Amino acid sequence: MSRPTTHKLLIYSAKQIVQISKNGEEVLKGIKQDQPIILNEKFGDNGETIGLSIVIDMTGRIEAVDFDDQIKCQFRFAIFEQSLCAKGLVILPGLIDAHTHPIWAGDRVEEFAMKQKGATYNEITLSGGGIYKTVRETDLASDEKLYNLLKNRLYHMMKSGTTLVECKSGYGLGLEQEMRLLTILKRANDELPLTLSITYLGAHAVPSNTNVTTFAQEIADSHIPFLLDAYLENKISLQNVDVFCETGYFDVENSFKILKAARRAGFNINVHGDELTPIGSYKLVDMLRRDAHSCNVYSVDQRYYSISHLEELSQEGIEVLAKDCKFVAVLLPLTKFILGITDKNKPPARQLIQNDVPVALGTDFNPSSHCYSMPIAMYTAVVTMGMTLEESLVASTLNAAASLNMSQDYGSLERDKMGDLLVLDCSDWKHLIYQLGNHDQLINYVIKRGSIIYGRAPFRYSKGEPQTGEMIFAQKREKSLPILTKEENWLLL
Ligand SMILES: [Zn+2]
Repeated sequence: MSRPTTHKLLIYSAKQIVQISKNGEEVLKGIKQDQPIILNEKFGDNGETIGLSIVIDMTGRIEAVDFDDQIKCQFRFAIFEQSLCAKGLVILPGLIDAHTHPIWAGDRVEEFAMKQKGATYNEITLSGGGIYKTVRETDLASDEKLYNLLKNRLYHMMKSGTTLVECKSGYGLGLEQEMRLLTILKRANDELPLTLSITYLGAHAVPSNTNVTTFAQEIADSHIPFLLDAYLENKISLQNVDVFCETGYFDVENSFKILKAARRAGFNINVHGDELTPIGSYKLVDMLRRDAHSCNVYSVDQRYYSISHLEELSQEGIEVLAKDCKFVAVLLPLTKFILGITDKNKPPARQLIQNDVPVALGTDFNPSSHCYSMPIAMYTAVVTMGMTLEESLVASTLNAAASLNMSQDYGSLERDKMGDLLVLDCSDWKHLIYQLGNHDQLINYVIKRGSIIYGRAPFRYSKGEPQTGEMIFAQKREKSLPILTKEENWLLL
């Protein structure tokens, strides 16, 4: 008889498992964005309830998702290091925040009050506030202070269900200062259990001692090659390059200059565009595709490009983006909602979905949009942008992963993907959006690659002995409560 196989985690008897997709789809778009795959418990021949199970292997990847009876049969003699009874609970993929600015010091609470009285973004920036104020305050903070601020923010994102988060630099502006922020972001990615997709946003604003053309050229010719070397030497972790493509900041031509260099260096493209004015950032996608095809190395460009915001995107822009089969629109419903600007242009979620453009969501967490919570972003997308609950869910899981070129590993609960998931204390996943705020009361566990990284207090500890599938399914459910020590709370690591 062959030796029994060992597995990291079995979660069983769940009421519902939200898979999102199960055939390796990279995105869900159009009508499919409204149709994620959701499995519900069923009744057996004798009227008994048959719940749902998920198995995570020793590498942290999903091995199987199926009904309890199938899993019990398949893994009867297999050994599980940990097991978790999820009777009456819901299992959902970890949420993915596709757009945040989490590393900075100080705050902009006074500007929030000014904006409520009618001050515009540009008026605040010109008066010495906005980005420049945060750049000054970030520059004065020590590395340790910035790391602890970042760690605390990531912890609160995780408590709201985020397991993968895009993190931008951008409050350094100069290369040296930006490198400091990227180094701290790498430390967080290395030391904390969340996965960070890190983005260079040196082109966040133009420093006062130069002009946009000179600065864009400097980023393209000097910053990008320097960052590539630093990445290859493992000094930083860097996946994406971003530009604030906006009137008064970086026009399309200068944005292209930077992004072309970034793309040729192998980084993903992730742009702020058409947020405040209809600048036509959508033209960048075609320009970059043409450039990629003009280079032999990139003759076949299989990566997704993404543009965030798009509040002012024109109808022509929507039609152009709809033609690109590798484009994701990252919409940020909280940005204007938090400022109370709900009567101005909203991100055109419905038009994008109707035109088959995959839509992702992010919090846009930053000093002037202070919200950690993806469930609140999802709620806001539903009530202010007209997205369905299902579209909002897909936008915060699979499509958000695709916007970061990570949907091969994240964003759905299917075989071979990462075992990143949430266990929700509710009868249906829709409670995550239906309930506004206090989501840590709904999220019982956050699990990353098959390890519980957060559980609601009070923590219960019991010494876990590996058990076989047969033993786990046979025992009384009360005794199979999850194992979690206080020391396993990642904030205390
Ligand atoms: Zn942003």
